[in-house]
Amino acid sequence: MADRKRIYLCLAHMSEDGAEQKFVKEAFDTNWVVPLGPNVNGFEKDLEEFVNNSLTPNPSPKGEGNLNKRVVALSAGTAAVHLGLLACGVKPGDEVIVQSFTFCASTHPVTYLGATPVLVDSEPDTWNIDPELMEEAIKDRKAKTGKYPAAIVPVALYGMPYKADRIMEIANKYGIPVVEDAAEGFGSRYKGQVLGTFGKYGVLSFNGNKMITTSGGGALITEDEDHWREIMMYATQYRESYPYYQHEKIGYNYRMSNICAGIGRGQMTVVNDHLAHHKHVQKMYEELLADVPGVHVHSQPSLTPDPSPKGEGSEYQVPTYDSNYWLCTISIDESVKVKGQENAYKTIVTGAVGGAAGVIHAAESAHTDCEPNANVEAMRVALDKAQIEARPVWKPMHKQPCYKNVPAYVNGVSEALFKVGMCLPAGPYVTDEDVKYIVETIKSAII
Ligand SMILES: *Cc1c(COP(=O)(O)O)cnc(C)c1O
Repeated sequence: MADRKRIYLCLAHMSEDGAEQKFVKEAFDTNWVVPLGPNVNGFEKDLEEFVNNSLTPNPSPKGEGNLNKRVVALSAGTAAVHLGLLACGVKPGDEVIVQSFTFCASTHPVTYLGATPVLVDSEPDTWNIDPELMEEAIKDRKAKTGKYPAAIVPVALYGMPYKADRIMEIANKYGIPVVEDAAEGFGSRYKGQVLGTFGKYGVLSFNGNKMITTSGGGALITEDEDHWREIMMYATQYRESYPYYQHEKIGYNYRMSNICAGIGRGQMTVVNDHLAHHKHVQKMYEELLADVPGVHVHSQPSLTPDPSPKGEGSEYQVPTYDSNYWLCTISIDESVKVKGQENAYKTIVTGAVGGAAGVIHAAESAHTDCEPNANVEAMRVALDKAQIEARPVWKPMHKQPCYKNVPAYVNGVSEALFKVGMCLPAGPYVTDEDVKYIVETIKSAII
């Protein structure tokens, strides 16, 4: 077992024909080694074509059914969240509603702007922001502070679509702009429409472990040409058109490098293969884990599609939920006994999750006040020993020490999921044989 190749959660996977290297070589050959250039423009165009390709039965006057969103390529998904919020007018003293069950890149940029995140818990079926609880939070913030939150950030956790139409309906009712965090949900669709295109802004990430990668990078989907221009100004230090540097506003150095964008252009040639493979791996987990008592694969709600407004049937039938299954997740009932669970958390873990370049703080205790159940930790250790990388699901932001003083609207869903949830490897490097091996390892770890 020791010489078995390790199976990772989600590894970057380049195209077979080396398209990425071709675009990068072109950048070197033409000396476009800067944060702008033909690859950046080309990547943005590819992204625009991809996100605007809507399958909704919603034809434009020209009958195409497509959208007209513009995309700005940036140095990180976190930068995209930051600029999206900034462009919504979020300022010091404001509050921003954010899904609590997420990675910290959804909430931290709120604090960069001197604003306060208001954390809202999840619904059990999608694990994403509970729209009804969100509305309660909106009303309660208005009652308590005299003003409405300045923006709303729903998150497509592990790629699963949030209830985009209900969220937009509530947001519009109170006139609050939505910044969709679709960093994990690139290519996921809700009622046929790509996530990130419902709100005023949509966030994508191309970090090394995401659906596609530029090594590191992100993008902001914007409503139209005007918003696109404004974001572009903010991403390039808000430089006005003069022969010298003239700044009307404070900007940022957030534009994507032409080298990274070259990788992105190559990745766009395989994005549909990646999507298909993630969905295939999910289906295998669903089938192979179906008969394991107490272990549940998290799957998208299967709702009957809305009937076409034209009543024409199948050609307009699109599923309500279409997750990219960026990571596949399971939950393990507390009653499931896993070998070695009596020894869980006995030793202090010496590496930060995801590895911050080897730089860590030594933990003082193996425990925190909110942690996955012992059987989940024992399962993680068993998989790790078998050369399989697994990870607890993200710890909700309202349980993070850095957010202990921010308002939170909680229903217990995300905290309960954090105790039983686990992410399993997905992505193009995970073979059918790997999935079978992972499932066998899970089964043999259960007593
Ligand atoms: C990855 C991620 C981001 C953006 O991350 P970057 O690493 O900065 O590209 C934002 N939100 C969520 C939920 C993410 O998982």
